[in-house]
Amino acid sequence: MLLDFCYHWAMVTILSLLTEEFMEENTIPSNINYGSAIYGRGGIEYIKDKPGHIEAWVGGLGGTIKQGAGSRRRVTFTIQDDEMHWICTGNPKNRQIFCKHCVALALAIRFKTNKLSDNK
Ligand SMILES: [Zn+2]
Repeated sequence: MLLDFCYHWAMVTILSLLTEEFMEENTIPSNINYGSAIYGRGGIEYIKDKPGHIEAWVGGLGGTIKQGAGSRRRVTFTIQDDEMHWICTGNPKNRQIFCKHCVALALAIRFKTNKLSDNK
């Protein structure tokens, strides 16, 4: 039972859940654009980076909204029952859209992993 659990836990990672399909289903194109801009300007500061739990400050950049400007928000990604859960402090409590901050963090997670695998 314990082995089963460990195996399972190791297989389902936040990265593995952040697929193109997931992004398409849960966000809108403008959030992808603004989130990409935030990510492109390095507007992500990790607070916690553990398997199944990633937390970061996202945003707080100047300029225009298209350039990724806006307030700094705390974004948390967790896995519960094999599903992605996300919280952005900028979203209303009962309506957690996958906002631009979430997109920026998702891109950072995906890029970091690509970088690691490039070094193999
Ligand atoms: Zn947000």
